[in-house]
Amino acid sequence: MQAVVTRACRECGEVVDDAVAVALEHVASTARRVVFLCPLCTADLKIMRLTDPP
Ligand SMILES: [Zn+2]
Repeated sequence: MQAVVTRACRECGEVVDDAVAVALEHVASTARRVVFLCPLCTADLKIMRLTDPP
């Protein structure tokens, strides 16, 4: 299962109905920035998805 929302992809700017919420880790911060990417950019960047199982 994954969160499905209509958002503009942070990387390519495409507005998609199945944007994926992802968290970008920052070394010097305890906070994680949540952004939305389209599925293609998510796969391309291979970054951690919030909805990935542990
Ligand atoms: Zn994209």
